[in-house]
Amino acid sequence: MTTIGVLGGGQLGWMLALAGYPLDLRFRFWEPAPGSPAGRIAEQVTAPYDDPVALADFSEGIELATYEFENVPVEIARTLAQRIPVYPPPTALETAQDRLNEKRLFQHLGIPAPRFALADTWEQLLEAVEEIGLPAVLKTRRGGYDGKGQAVLRERSDVERAWSLLQGANRILESFVPFDREVSLVAARSVRGETVFYPLAENYHREGILRLTLAPAPVLSPAMQARAQEYMERLLQALDYAGVLAVEFFACGEELFANEIAPRVHNSGHWTIEGAETSQFANHLRAILGLPLGSAKPLGRAAMVNLIGAVPDTATLLAVPHASLHLYGKAPRPGRKLGHITLRAESREALDASLTQILSLADCAPGGEGVNGPSH
Ligand code: AMP
Repeated sequence: MTTIGVLGGGQLGWMLALAGYPLDLRFRFWEPAPGSPAGRIAEQVTAPYDDPVALADFSEGIELATYEFENVPVEIARTLAQRIPVYPPPTALETAQDRLNEKRLFQHLGIPAPRFALADTWEQLLEAVEEIGLPAVLKTRRGGYDGKGQAVLRERSDVERAWSLLQGANRILESFVPFDREVSLVAARSVRGETVFYPLAENYHREGILRLTLAPAPVLSPAMQARAQEYMERLLQALDYAGVLAVEFFACGEELFANEIAPRVHNSGHWTIEGAETSQFANHLRAILGLPLGSAKPLGRAAMVNLIGAVPDTATLLAVPHASLHLYGKAPRPGRKLGHITLRAESREALDASLTQILSLADCAPGGEGVNGPSH
């Protein structure tokens, strides 16, 4: 029996373990916070990531390590990699942790992305505003997620406000992309080089947090899917990748601009549990273990709605046709992802009535103020 060590113990880890148990896999999670979703169903080392005793406890007896959270220290992944295989490769983690590295990689690989400039000092920010123009988005290079660590600059008077909001961090300024839609591509590449691609999914955010994913993306053209796969292929090759990789894009018509990569299973891929022949979680495990990958073919149409801040009544949610409920066992807190619902049916029409019900129950109907916009 193989034991896989996972850095991080959130809901992504929990779903990885659930996908791994049918393959007789065991899991050990390293997560600083007690009572994590993954800790509900697997062994958890609860300690800060700089604790050397915890490192020894965690690595004892594991054959392979992966991560489910992007902001784990890359040094831990590197230290582990000296002893056991660590997938995705720590370089991918390092790249994803710094928006500058990410943007440079896109540039190097010829993948279209928003224009960007460094904005570490006030003078640099003013120069960057001159170079990029407005509107633009100021972002911290590290540690930002779910729309945190960013501010939109629409006019000159926003520059100072954005600067004071993101004090004390390295920053980049990037051009604001007037996108029609946000889409993401999830792919899995195995250590043996086999690759599968899920269909592009369309994502709706509010206050920078993903609320709704439609998969396959309703307005998907074969050309757009092919283009996204081509960009993904370049990234997978360049990073010598194994595991699941997600890339978020801004779509302007048929054009795609890469926003960011996530070297892990991704929230916009949760629909694959019910909505694809093989889930992203199962394929991540197959990929890092060198097992044959499963088909990424969608089974009809799916919609995934995140439950954020509060969870509606279980019976009410389950009464909605086509609904599957996933609750992460986390304490409610504003802005916190507590669970998700997947709706799956043979056609979009069959999903629509259910989706309307779920969106009103989950209070996250897209189209409201702030949808698809960064939080500040
Ligand atoms: P991020 O943390 O980079 O994924 O940004 C969170 C959300 O802010 C994205 O999903 C977009 O809705 C929005 N956003 C981020 N960067 C830009 C940009 N350069 N242009 C337009 N919208 C953006």
